[in-house]
Amino acid sequence: MPNLTLTALFRPEILAMSAYHVADAHHFIKLDAMENPYGWPTDIQQAWLEQLKDCPMNRYPDPEAKTLVAALRASNHIPAESGLLLGNGSDEIIQILQMALPGNATIMAPEPGFVMYKQIALSLGLRYQGVPLLTDDFDLDLPAMLAAIESSQPSLIFLAYPNNPTGNLFDAGAIKEILAIAPGLVIVDEAYAPFADASFIGELPNYQNLLVMRTVSKLGLAGLRLGFLAGDNTVLAQLHKVRLPYNINCLTQITAQFALTHQNFLVEQTSDICQQRGEVLAALQGMEDIKCYPSAANFILIRTLNHPADDVFISLKKQGVLIKNLSPQGGVLHNCLRVTIGKQEENQTFLTALRNALKNP
Ligand SMILES: *Cc1c(COP(=O)(O)O)cnc(C)c1O
Repeated sequence: MPNLTLTALFRPEILAMSAYHVADAHHFIKLDAMENPYGWPTDIQQAWLEQLKDCPMNRYPDPEAKTLVAALRASNHIPAESGLLLGNGSDEIIQILQMALPGNATIMAPEPGFVMYKQIALSLGLRYQGVPLLTDDFDLDLPAMLAAIESSQPSLIFLAYPNNPTGNLFDAGAIKEILAIAPGLVIVDEAYAPFADASFIGELPNYQNLLVMRTVSKLGLAGLRLGFLAGDNTVLAQLHKVRLPYNINCLTQITAQFALTHQNFLVEQTSDICQQRGEVLAALQGMEDIKCYPSAANFILIRTLNHPADDVFISLKKQGVLIKNLSPQGGVLHNCLRVTIGKQEENQTFLTALRNALKNP
């Protein structure tokens, strides 16, 4: 039997990559992954379990998830003329979009930004071009974006709105200028829509090259893995050919449909998180030794000014609080940390632990 030669078997770009790393959060107060900290009310949970009984586990799920699509359209106010494509998380949609492109296509995104845009481009052997954001407020550097679009002619431009990990909403006028000159598709990634007072969904009828992507993950259903892409039907028809036929399993279809028709509890949870975001931001702004950035999402970006962020991160972990250390990503994220907004008592524990960490580095 011949020995496997992995270096001959796999593409060089795969061999050079590292797998997406997820920290082990056991026994920590988990404020690292933009999850909703709340569970479901008992009566809602009971009603949901009742519905799950009707799920025909022996059958393939509806490949078009028609009932769920209707619920998503209604709760997200999708314009009648726009189509919808569902994904196993919006991560899968990012992959579907890129898999449909020719091998010499360029993917573009502002940086720092969501890492999966680049990770998936590299895994598919596509070109990826990051364009730096302005360093003071992390808004789009519009002249730099327009110049990069002009010279690289990207097939896809990803704009997270609000942006992860910076938390801000880019200038809407700048996004419209990008839409007006982009030769390919512009994906406005609204993963944090439940916490932001802004959206491009209403603009869908105005731009054929605009796609709006959303997910139920940050709303409170991260365990389900469900995202969707809204936009021009002729564009989505091509992407549907790349999508695997049963990518949304029947448990996800029934559960998401159920959650959307009982969404009051989720709306209450997200508005509580927004309230908490204000309190955490105010507390952080009162601390010396750090700079924090305003956020339209359910997390806050922090920069340490007089301590290495790595040390603060480790000290927080020792105190039982897990946040995200962005400092290893380097560049403008050097000495940056990102904290997800949790329950009030979790946020208070985090703030106390942070004060300790800054006092005794
Ligand atoms: C979390 C996140 C996603 C991924 O969402 P899933 O639906 O859970 O895959 C996409 N885009 C941004 C900007 C995110 O922060």
